[in-house]
Amino acid sequence: MRIFPCALCGHALHFENVRCLVCNSKLAFVPDLLAIEAIQPETNGLWSVIDIRGGEPSANRYRLCKNGTVHGVCNFAVPAQDRNPYCVACRLTRVLPDLNIAGNRERWHAVEVAKRRLFYTLAHLGLISPAPPPAHRERLRFEFLEDHSERPVLTGHTNGLITINIAEADDEVRARRRTHLHEPYRTLLGHFRHESGHYYWDCLIRDAGRLDSYRQVFGDESVDYRQSLKRHYDTAGRATDWEARHVSAYAKCHPWEDWAETWAHYLHMVDLLDTAASHDAFFAASADCPAPPNSRASPPGRPPDGMEFRLLVARWVPLTLLVNSLNRSLGQADAYPFALSRGALDKLQYIHEIVSQVGSNRRE
Ligand SMILES: [Zn+2]
Ligand SMILES: [Zn+2]
Ligand SMILES: [Zn+2]
Repeated sequence: MRIFPCALCGHALHFENVRCLVCNSKLAFVPDLLAIEAIQPETNGLWSVIDIRGGEPSANRYRLCKNGTVHGVCNFAVPAQDRNPYCVACRLTRVLPDLNIAGNRERWHAVEVAKRRLFYTLAHLGLISPAPPPAHRERLRFEFLEDHSERPVLTGHTNGLITINIAEADDEVRARRRTHLHEPYRTLLGHFRHESGHYYWDCLIRDAGRLDSYRQVFGDESVDYRQSLKRHYDTAGRATDWEARHVSAYAKCHPWEDWAETWAHYLHMVDLLDTAASHDAFFAASADCPAPPNSRASPPGRPPDGMEFRLLVARWVPLTLLVNSLNRSLGQADAYPFALSRGALDKLQYIHEIVSQVGSNRRE
């Protein structure tokens, strides 16, 4: 996720911001521009993007997402001509937890923040449209559920529907599961990325005639799934010998989980590289000139800017070393507790090539 320059004062803006901390401009994420933008009110409750970078002023008008105006959990804009009161990301959520229960609104907020970050990365890669035609319905949907005594909620994916147990939004619960299941990296965003992997396996492998090449890289997914998972949990996630060919211990339990774990890892890479690149551009621009840097997001459908996998890895390794060193300097644990083996890299490369293909098809 990149940082965005405020159009009015040049201050660095985060994806979640709703106001510029320096010039107090109202902000929104504008999906068709894939960027956080300063906005100004127009007539009829509509808003326009403030652009003092020199181009023709845009005639586009927007509303703010209803989940932002009513609940304060969304900062996305909706094109004025789109009749849906919800933004392109919120309309994918079908079931919400009971907001009358104390703490659920905060959990929902945390879950939506992670979901919108996933949405951005998918849009950035050209895997989902940031500005679909008004009547379009995505197959990808979300439901956010809470545990009931008789029916525990399992985070998972079925047929385009991603279910998230909102208890995962509680730091304490997540930390306990992280230790119990031996998963050094367990985050809400990680869950979204992993589950989206199952959805894109359906779309990009099963339904796209890539089963043969997939099996060559990940193995035969027709082996018994339940048995495989049971074996994994029987050993409390303490699988051994996974490093040579997998990104995580959990990835070893079944080829589907291997794909989803590798997919999630690929999205971590893309996102962190995007963040680093935008900081480079931002610092370079603010060092040279006081004017706001002109770094509108690149158009959608750009897997790390068309980068070759070899280059991606060449940038990735020093970047993760830097991230971990920064964390250690602050007395924190490594933010990136992984080391990628050749076998894991081959799988990541397979995903990179498919995503690049899909992204460039969408651009054409
Ligand atoms: Zn500002
Ligand atoms: Zn929204
Ligand atoms: Zn999974």
